[in-house]
Amino acid sequence: VSVLGIDIGGTRLKAGRVDESGRIEASRTAPTPGDRDSLRATLDSLIGELGGASVNGVGIGCKGIINPATTRVEVLPGTLAYLEGAVLRDLVPAGMRVAADNDARVAMAGELMWGAAKGRANALMLTLGTGVGGAIVADGRLLRGATGVAGHIGHLTVDPDGPVCICGNHGCLETFFSARAIESEAFAVVHRGCASRLAGNPTCADVFRAAAEGDAIARGIIGRATRALGAALAGLLHILDPEVVIVGGQISEAGEALFEALKQEVRWRTRRLLRREVPIVPPRVADPSGIIGAAALVR
Ligand SMILES: [Zn+2]
Repeated sequence: VSVLGIDIGGTRLKAGRVDESGRIEASRTAPTPGDRDSLRATLDSLIGELGGASVNGVGIGCKGIINPATTRVEVLPGTLAYLEGAVLRDLVPAGMRVAADNDARVAMAGELMWGAAKGRANALMLTLGTGVGGAIVADGRLLRGATGVAGHIGHLTVDPDGPVCICGNHGCLETFFSARAIESEAFAVVHRGCASRLAGNPTCADVFRAAAEGDAIARGIIGRATRALGAALAGLLHILDPEVVIVGGQISEAGEALFEALKQEVRWRTRRLLRREVPIVPPRVADPSGIIGAAALVR
């Protein structure tokens, strides 16, 4: 069986042939086209280069809300808005099995098949980046909900009167913990002229670096954000009782500094009810491209 994984990103289109042990045998990338017809043509040539008629299945990961039953893109704001209403299955050559879902669930599918959630019936995944993505496996099923929205952990309310979120709610988790939230907090302290080694327009990585170097202001920003994340995660553990929590995404590259603080926060909040420590681990399918997870989806 020859299976391809495809990631439709805002700027890059990535495709790869993935073997049965989750290794990428060959891959191609192309700039993401600006309309549906060009996208279909580009997918056609990528699939052709990666095996053409010998390909049996194609898994597609895409941002937004995807209906996995029909592969229709229900909601997709931003540069890929032209895909709203498109049926992804119609964009690849006929005769291939096609599965599609949003990028967070695709990452979880990869972890379920080859990674940190392998053999688990209950698992939780968070991707910490510009926003916070999530995917939930409960009692052996990848949760999708009634309309495909389930798993949007970034929009869990952690402060009813908190900052306004892109989703319209106030105080969502990602208004406290996300690259955007940490960067706007850092910019605010620079703008107010606080005594800190943060300067200019600091990136999230700059703030983590300054915190590691002992900068009190940066430590305060990271500490507050991590407390919100830990509190949200504690609530999710009480609700979902998972065997493992997988924390990935660009911010998770901060490593031990983040994981240790997060574990401490979760530990004291959950010890009475859960009576055990739930492992909080990085993803095992090291695949920033999203190709492997997409292939897992169709396998
Ligand atoms: Zn929100």
